[in-house]
Amino acid sequence: GRNTVRVFLPPMQQEADLRLILERGLRAALEQDRMGTQFALHFQPQITADGELLGAEALLRWHHPQLGEVAPEKFIPLAEETGLIHALGSWVVDEACAHLRAWDRDGIAHGKSLAVNVSAWQLAHPHYAARLVAQVHEAGVAPARLTLELTESALLQDFDGAQATLRQLAAAGFRLALDDFGVGYSSLSYLQHLPLDVIKIDRAFVSELQADAGNPLAGFIIDMAHRLGIMAVAEGVETVYQRQALEQMGCDGLQGYLISRPVSDAGFRHWLADHRQA
Ligand code: C2E
Ligand code: CA
Ligand code: CA
Ligand code: CA
Repeated sequence: GRNTVRVFLPPMQQEADLRLILERGLRAALEQDRMGTQFALHFQPQITADGELLGAEALLRWHHPQLGEVAPEKFIPLAEETGLIHALGSWVVDEACAHLRAWDRDGIAHGKSLAVNVSAWQLAHPHYAARLVAQVHEAGVAPARLTLELTESALLQDFDGAQATLRQLAAAGFRLALDDFGVGYSSLSYLQHLPLDVIKIDRAFVSELQADAGNPLAGFIIDMAHRLGIMAVAEGVETVYQRQALEQMGCDGLQGYLISRPVSDAGFRHWLADHRQA
C-alpha cells in the first residue's frame, strides 16, 4: 500500500527466523512443562515374517501452536544444536514408559519391546546410561521393554566411549538396535565388538527391492546380521513385493507403510485389534 513498506526477507533470513521461532517454542514447551500439550509419541508396529507383532517404534511428533506439525527432521537437529535434546530425549523415555504401562494394564502388546530413537548427542553425555537406568527404574518399566535405536555415526564419533556405554546399557537389560544400517560407513568390523540385538536395514536398501533389480544388498545385510547373532529388521517396507522378498531372505522383522503408518496410541490399539482378527 501507499503508507506501508514491505520487507521481503531473503530466504536465508527466513530460515534463520524460523529456526529462532522453533527454538523458542521448544524451549518454552520444555521449561513450562507443556510438552504433553504439543508433543506426542506415535507408534509404528513391527511384525515378524509370520505376521506376529514384534514390537513398535516410537516416533516423536510436534504440533506447534502456530505453525502446526513440525517434522522431526526439522526440530531434532535444532534440539541437538541447542542442547535441548537431553531434556527432549528424557521426555520421550518417560512418555514411552507411560504408554508401556498403560498397554500392560490394558493387556495390549504384552511383553513387547518399544523402540525409542536416541541421538548421538544423548549417547555422548557422560551420565547418559546411569540416568536412563534410574529413570526407567523409577518409571517401573523393565529395561528389556525398551529398544534403544542408535545410528552408526553416534557410535563412531567416539567408538570406545560408545562401546563402554552400550555395554553398560546391555548389562542393565536394554535392547540395542543399530538404526539406518548400511548408509554411513564401509568398515563393518566394529559390529562384532558391540552388544547389538537388532540391525535396522535402511529404507534405501528396501526400496531397491523391485522385480527388475538384481543382487540386492538387503540379503547380504540379513546374512551378516545372522552370522553375528543379531536380528534384522527392515524399515520402509512399502510394497508386497518388498515384504515377500525380505521374508525369503530370512528377515526377522518388517516395519513400514505396508504394515502401518506411525499412528497415535488410539490408532495403535485399533491396528492391534484389526491385526489380531486378520
Ligand atoms: P528413523 O528413526 O529412521 O524413523 C523412520 C522414519 O521413516 C519415520 O519418519 C517414519 O515415519 C518413516 N517411515 C516409516 N515407514 C515408512 C515407509 O514405509 N516409507 C517411508 N517413506 N517412510 C517411512 P519420521 O517419523 O518423520 O522421523 C524421522 C526421523 O526423526 C527418524 O528417522 C529419527 O531419526 C528422528 N526421530 C523421530 N523421533 C525421534 C525421537 O524421539 N528422538 C530422536 N532423537 N530422533 C527422532
Ligand atoms: Ca529409528
Ligand atoms: Ca531408521
Ligand atoms: Ca531413517
